Amino acid sequence: MAIASARKLEGMIIGGEEVPAGAGGVIEDRNPANGEVLATVASADATDVDHAVKAAAEAFTRTWQRTRPAERGRVLVRISAAIRARADEIARMECLDTGKPLRQAKADTEVAARYFEFYGGAADKILGSTIPLGSGFLDYTVREPLGVSAHIVPWNYPLQILGRGVAAALAAGNTVVLKPASQAPLTALAIGRLALECGLPPGVLNVIPGPGPEAGSALASHRLVNQITFTGSIATGTHIMKLAAEHTIPVTLELGGKSPNIVFADADFGPTVEGVANAIYQHAGQTCSAGSRLLLERRAHDSFLEKLTDRVRKMKIGPGIDDPDIGPLITEDQRRRVLDYIALGKREGADLTYGGKVPSDERLSKGSFLEPTLLDGVSNAMRVAQEEIFGPVLVVIPFDEVEEAAAISNDSRYGLLAGIWTRDINKALALAERIQSGQVYINTYGAGGGAELPFGGYKQSGFGREKGLEGLLVAVGRVVGVGVGARVGVGDGVVGAAVGEGVGVD
Ligand code: NAD
Repeated sequence: MAIASARKLEGMIIGGEEVPAGAGGVIEDRNPANGEVLATVASADATDVDHAVKAAAEAFTRTWQRTRPAERGRVLVRISAAIRARADEIARMECLDTGKPLRQAKADTEVAARYFEFYGGAADKILGSTIPLGSGFLDYTVREPLGVSAHIVPWNYPLQILGRGVAAALAAGNTVVLKPASQAPLTALAIGRLALECGLPPGVLNVIPGPGPEAGSALASHRLVNQITFTGSIATGTHIMKLAAEHTIPVTLELGGKSPNIVFADADFGPTVEGVANAIYQHAGQTCSAGSRLLLERRAHDSFLEKLTDRVRKMKIGPGIDDPDIGPLITEDQRRRVLDYIALGKREGADLTYGGKVPSDERLSKGSFLEPTLLDGVSNAMRVAQEEIFGPVLVVIPFDEVEEAAAISNDSRYGLLAGIWTRDINKALALAERIQSGQVYINTYGAGGGAELPFGGYKQSGFGREKGLEGLLVAVGRVVGVGVGARVGVGDGVVGAAVGEGVGVD
């Protein structure tokens, strides 16, 4: 079966079947590098959402909940191997759909394979515990899957985000309804088809692209959904949380960031320049964890910025498929939004020291390209320092003291990532302790590809955790305590016998 770019007509995947467009019509999925239609994709409406959730609910009770954990793990490991076997095809598709450089799309594909491998290996290691109460009692815990898990993902890193969320949910024994973003739905559908080929039972993973306000809201409100993992903007995350509250189900929210990358004068400038440039310009700044605020020790300001500007000047802009440094923004609207922020920064008093324009190269005229941009002389109070721009714009904020660096870092509604660059490890560790952020990196930014280290927010960057074993425990979600009282029971003991003794019940 062709899973990738040769397909021009894409159906939804519901209950193991490819379902054509119904009343929801189709999405014209475009290549952001040139505006051409890549594929026509069935777009889910509320009826399709209902079918997908019911298929997932039935698959949960009929098959997946009853499948032994080791077998669940084996299926996930097969999916991982299948992603690796077709990595070139899948990476090319992700590259064309999102606009990112091909090497980034290849890295994302490998990370997706790694998530299925990591969580596949962990499926039969979701342990409970025994709790000592002394002779005559046996208390223990069991970790149970939640049921139907809804995953709503954005367009910037579909493969990575579905990998971390869906693989953990499936390993834990949940069934999934996955709603990718309309701007980049292709790899989610490809993984859905691949999973079926690998023996994932029908209905265990359903994929329904569709517009957020209709399909996303219908999914979050559906009464048979037991948990939601949402990745996207604060505004939509807040809306999802309200819908979840209507039927009292848990949510994991992975929202935005305005992450500080803190550079001290004693840093090793070579790798630091690379790290800082990559942290912001990767995928043209359309990364939730982008290091979008450069906090620069004042006495290194001129020398570091000179080196950074030299590096940025060498960056190649072009269609992702040519593997440049910077591809297009996802849409023309997104580019306009970023250009508005650059203009705002200038009005606020920032110095535009590099970039800030649409490239003049005629060959790039059909895509939403934008030069990598540096805004210097920024104060943390400015809107360009406080708001997520989600484009290739780095704001430079000077500081003098470690305390000041910590205060500026934390003066944000966000708290997703932070980078610290210095040769003084004591200073780095002391500062790391002070920063309110889900991840802190020292002399690197995003270590080791990501599957193992828990990830998530402080403040309005969200809550709950994905990645690592923490992500798996959030996915299983429910811990059931069982108390057995051998003294008061009959035969082998009575569940909940502690209740009979009249203690500890509220
Ligand atoms: P978005 O919130 O507009 O969309 C995200 C998803 O939600 C899409 O699938 C969309 O269709 C859906 N959606 C939109 N409106 C909806 C509604 N009313 N009801 C239900 N679903 C709805 O976000 P975006 O612009 O696509 O993505 C960019 C944002 O995502 C940025 O803020 C970025 O920082 C954040 N992000 C966070 C992470 C993370 O892991 N923390 C990762 C990537 C992106």
